[in-house]
Formats: sequence, structure tokens, C-alpha cells
Amino acid sequence: MNGTQLLLFLFPTFFKNHNETKKKKNVASLQKTGNGAKTQPNGTLDHRTVPPMGLTGRQFIDAATASIDEIEAYYSTVASRPLLPDISPGYLRDLLPGQAPAKGEPWPEIQRDIERVVMPGMTHWQHPKFMAFFPASSSYPAILGELWSAALTVPAFNWICSPAVTELETVVLDWLAQILGLPASFLSKGEGGGVIQGSASEAIVTCMVAARERYIKRQLGRQGITEPEEFEDKAYELRSKLVALGSDHTHSSTKKGAIIAGTRFRSVEALRSDAFALKGENLRAKIEELTAQGLHPYYLTVCLGTTNTAAVDDFASIAEVAKDYPDIWIHCDAAYAGSALVLPEYHHISQQMAMVDSFDMSMHKWLLVNFDCSCLFIQKRRDLTDALTITPAYLRNQYTDSGLVTDYRDWQIPMGRRFRALKIWFVLRTWGVEGLQRHIEHSMNIGSLFANLMCSRLDLFEITTPPAFALTVFTVKPLPKRTRALSDDDGTNGADPRRPWPDAPVPSPLQADEGLRHAANQLTEEVYTLIEQRKEFFLTSTVLGDVYAIRVVSGNAFADEHHIRQAFATIVSTTEEVLAKHRDA
Ligand SMILES: *Cc1c(COP(=O)(O)O)cnc(C)c1O
Repeated sequence: MNGTQLLLFLFPTFFKNHNETKKKKNVASLQKTGNGAKTQPNGTLDHRTVPPMGLTGRQFIDAATASIDEIEAYYSTVASRPLLPDISPGYLRDLLPGQAPAKGEPWPEIQRDIERVVMPGMTHWQHPKFMAFFPASSSYPAILGELWSAALTVPAFNWICSPAVTELETVVLDWLAQILGLPASFLSKGEGGGVIQGSASEAIVTCMVAARERYIKRQLGRQGITEPEEFEDKAYELRSKLVALGSDHTHSSTKKGAIIAGTRFRSVEALRSDAFALKGENLRAKIEELTAQGLHPYYLTVCLGTTNTAAVDDFASIAEVAKDYPDIWIHCDAAYAGSALVLPEYHHISQQMAMVDSFDMSMHKWLLVNFDCSCLFIQKRRDLTDALTITPAYLRNQYTDSGLVTDYRDWQIPMGRRFRALKIWFVLRTWGVEGLQRHIEHSMNIGSLFANLMCSRLDLFEITTPPAFALTVFTVKPLPKRTRALSDDDGTNGADPRRPWPDAPVPSPLQADEGLRHAANQLTEEVYTLIEQRKEFFLTSTVLGDVYAIRVVSGNAFADEHHIRQAFATIVSTTEEVLAKHRDA
């Protein structure tokens, strides 16, 4: 019995009252003095000045409640915040001291700095006028999943580290594979299964490494090379000849993956006339060309929804080529558009995924789960684990050795992993499959509205590629060549004032000769730059071959019909402003 216990034993009521007073003091301390001292002395060795969890339980409840209130206020008013920050680079350093505080600070002071320090430098991705890149979705159930994940904090690299983390992940990814209509071979009950990765890029490089190892093993296996040292020598020789492939519209993460995997990358042309979809014949020609050079194509990224234009590669013709090259690993990058597969009308695409070794879509883009949550599905999980398994003695355990459990560390690059399945679970249960379908439909409907509005002004705009998956890509049409001498042209004489020379046909930038295309690019870029400077909407621009284009994405869950109409009106008025300037010039 220590001194305190002895006193407690002798004077129980005094101590009870004393503890009550102390509790009250702690609440007050959150407001006044900060984190306060520890509530329980822990022997003479303990000189810590802050409780083990940073705050007392009571302080945590108050701080968390206040934070949740502020988060709710943030979401309910995000539309009225400035969408883009209005600060100069390096703004933040000036708002903070040069060193970390020597003594802990009270929570309310920390919380205040969200508004003072952080908010001025935020680009609000959930703002309904954020129509740039692709969306990064957020939702309350997913936020609660993050909160629980942080609370439980288990870097569950193998099953025994917390069986629930592994088992929930397996179950919710099976659910998701079914919702997306993927072939049954991607489910965990067979030889496949799903795993949560941090990002689509991470999924790609992980598969690329597995592809590399599988390719080498098969090639050397056929040559009957088994002696370890010889195998290693030959493997390194072969590695120097490996080539990863993707179309020239494949996301840059494939090229980056090849850098990390230490192999070459070559792109296959995806033509404008094919709406930037990779075609089997072009792929075959590239494979033959590389093979003739003594190189070994071992990996291919195909796209369901490219970043530029949401193009979908021609899976049917690629599948024909794949039959002739069974050693090439095919990965489908469906980072954004994969979410659309929740709609049964797209399940014919899902069924085509039987031709790929791996398929990845990011719920953190369009499917209401907060970053990070990229869902990678694989038909033969052994392909991944054979390449990535390393079992040092300290990771050995009876469960892993029995082979009855999944150790997700063998499906990924890092060892530790977060409990991310919770946020998927919470989202799937909150929305239900039908709720997810209505969410995607909503984005698609307002996306179609935008495309239709664009079509109502084909005098001003040209849509460059078929609008798809809530993305429309367009250019501004160039001014027509003058058909009359300048002196004859008063520009407004009973004519449509929107166009300077109404009797001239409006040329299409996509078909235009080089000079006109250059002019169209310049106009489009001017329109884009003005919209960018005015910061009412956030759009992104892109370059498609030699065409400068603007992308508008309506996949943001907060975007509604009237935001789309406003975006269109802003684009029209900005375009007219730019055209008028050029007409007057
Ligand atoms: C966004 C995107 C990526 C990259 O996603 P990360 O998760 O940020 O790595 C890759 N491919 C496509 C098609 C994308 O749209």
C-alpha cells in the first residue's frame, strides 16, 4: 500500500470529495491552464508533465465535442468559403513561431489555429464549385471510421496483430467486388481477393513488382534454371530488358512505377480518332516492335477512365492480344471511373475485367470514403504474395504458418497498415448499394446537363471527347477568318453580337489547320487563365496532343444542378469577354 492508498483507506470521504473537485478543476483547466498535470502520480520515476493521452478523458470529450461541432460547421458553410486560398507561398511560416513550444499549450488555443493558420491556406475540395482534377470525396460515416481507426491504432501487418482489421478488410472488399460486378475470381473465397492500398499509384507499383517477379520466374523456369546463384544472375540480366507499357493517356503513375520497379516504360499511342482509347492492334504492334529489339514487355496498364478525358481502353481487342502474351501482367487502372461500376448498366465492363490480373479503383475519389482508400483486387493473390513475402523469425507465428489466415503485409509495400476497412464498412452500411447508385447517378446527371449546355453553344465551344463519367472536356472555338474587309465590318449590324463575324462558319479546333488550332489554344488558355485568376470555380486544363482543353468534373458530392448552370454561365461570359477583346484588337 502506498501513501495515497493508505490515506484513501483512512479518509475515504475526504478523498472522494477531493477527486470530484479535481475533476471539475480539469474541465476548467481545459479552458484556462491547458493540459494540466497528471491526475495519478505513478511512482517516483514518473516526471511526465502531460497525461499519457495528452488530455485527460474529460478534456478529450470537451475538445473532441468542440472539434466535431466545428467540423459540422465547416461542412455546412464550406460553400460560402473562398474556394481557393488567397495567400502567397510561404504564408504559413509567418504565422507560427520559429520553434516548437517548450511547454504544452491548452487545447482551445490549438483549436483556434485551425481557423487562423490552416483555413487561409486551404483549397476546399468539398466546395461545390470545385470541379478540378477528380473529386476527393468525404463523408461523415467515413470520418467516423477514421476516428475509430485512429483510436484503435493497430499497425496490423499480420492477422494476429488484430484479427478484426484483416477480416473486416477481406469481407468489405468482397462486398465491394460484388457491388462493382467484378468476376467472382476476384473474391477471396477463391484464389483472389482485395486489399486496401494508400493510392492508385501504390497499387500500380505493387502490381508492377509482382509482375516483374512473376515474369522472371516463368521465363527462367522455362529455361530450367534453378541453381540459386545462376537464377539470380539471369534474373538481373532479364530485368534490364523488361518494359512496362501503358497508353500515352495512362496516368503518370505507371511511368513512375516503372522508375521505382527499375524497368523501362514505353507508351503505346492512343489516337484521337479512337477517343484516346488504347486499341489491341496498336498494342500488338508495340509489343512486336519491342520484342524485335530484344526487350521483354512484362506489364501493361489499361485504363477505365483516363485522367485527361475519362477514356476507356478497348478491352475486347486488348484481350485478344493478351491471349498471345499470357506472361504480360495486365493491371486495370480505374482510379476514378471504377466507382461508376456500382451502376448495373456498367457491369458489362466489369465482366471484361476477367482479362486483367489486377483491378484498382479508389473509393477516395468518387465513392464517399475519405482519402486514403484505394481498393486493389487481384485474381491470383499468390502472384502478389509470392513476390512480396519475406518472413523473418519475429514475424513467424502459428497462424501465419498454418496458412489459414491472410497477412496483408504480403500484399503491399509497407509492413504496417491502418484500419481502413472501417470507413468502407461505415459508408457501405450508411448508403447501402442503392444509395451509392443514386450518388453516382446524380453526378452523371448533372454531368450530362453540363455537356448538353455546352452543346447549346457550339458557336463558342467544341467538346473534344465524348463526355463520360461526369467529365466534359472542351475547347473554345477560334475566331473565324475574316470574310469581309475590316472597313466593311461593323461587327454588330443586326448580327449576333456574340460572334464578331456571324456570317463565317465557326471552325473546329480539332479539325482546324495549325494556325487556327494555335489561335483556338490561345483563346482556350486565356479563358482558363481568367477563370483561374477569379477563383470562383476551380477547373483544370489539359493538353490533348496539340489541343489545349478545359476539363469540368461534376463528381463532387456537394455539386448540384445550379452549380453546374453557374459554371456554364461563367464559362460562357468569360469566353465572350475574351472573344470581344480579340474582336476589338
Ligand atoms: C487519380 C488517378 C491516379 C492517381 O491516384 P492516386 O491515388 O493519387 O495515386 C491514377 N490513375 C488515374 C486514372 C487517376 O485518375
